Amino acid sequence: VVSLIIDIHTHIGEYEKHWSETLARTVSRGHGKPEDFKEMWDIDLDAYIADMDDAGIDVSVVMGMDFTRVDPTRTPADYIYKFLQRDDRLMGFIGLQTIDTRDRFNAPALKEFEEAVTEKGFVGLKLHPNYSHYRPNDKTAYPFYQKAVELGVPVLMHMGTTPATFAEYDAGHPRYVDDIAQDFPDLKICVAHMAYPWAEETLGLMRKCPNVYTDFSAACIRPIVLTWNLVLAKEYQMMDRTMFGSDYPCCTPRKDFIEWIKTDLNKQCEKSGWPTFTKGEIDNILGNTAKDYLGL
Ligand SMILES: [Zn+2]
Repeated sequence: VVSLIIDIHTHIGEYEKHWSETLARTVSRGHGKPEDFKEMWDIDLDAYIADMDDAGIDVSVVMGMDFTRVDPTRTPADYIYKFLQRDDRLMGFIGLQTIDTRDRFNAPALKEFEEAVTEKGFVGLKLHPNYSHYRPNDKTAYPFYQKAVELGVPVLMHMGTTPATFAEYDAGHPRYVDDIAQDFPDLKICVAHMAYPWAEETLGLMRKCPNVYTDFSAACIRPIVLTWNLVLAKEYQMMDRTMFGSDYPCCTPRKDFIEWIKTDLNKQCEKSGWPTFTKGEIDNILGNTAKDYLGL
């Protein structure tokens, strides 16, 4: 049986047009690449496709961003939509803010979300509460969760911290997803990045809330921590709700990250005296779980 490889979490954009200088500089610094941030954050769309071919990725999910309440970073739905037309393997999540600059419910964004799904084929909603300075369980966000349930699409949230100083540290804590998971039991919610450094707390949340998933996108930069967090996911019996993502342009070439998951992950486990992963578990994190999360 051939199983799918799904990259659940990627980004595209042009430096300074879609990503602020502050975001590009600080995230590159966080990834140990402080020098070449302009190139890293100026995505060549042909290179994105070529990287997908090289890595043998069957489905790659492209996520929008909108932090404009706090920072100029924004990847508009139209820009992503245009890219989605290029390849059948691409799927899109619209990136929006649920709250406006006056701390009120962002009604135009809700309309945009609905149109993106019903008219443009977007398959989910991406939120960045910490970058936009609100808590995920803020009541202004509730109409968006309700709409996602009505449209039958999942939500993925940037959770955990970020190297970007302007973001709010506390807003990334997975504790704020508990209310949403309970109030919308039919909504699939992905707590991205295992909400680092709160990975074990994310797993605790997932155990009590069966509609919460996680991805370990961008975590390739800390392979020992990532290995340990996946061991924790296994111990908490959450391997069937844990998903591979690159956070492209981070963790590239994606081929190397996938190869690391297939071989080096178990080598690191053996070296550390930790339990290893079965082929079934690896297949789940590389694609089967994402297939279920996306409803494919
Ligand atoms: Zn993201």
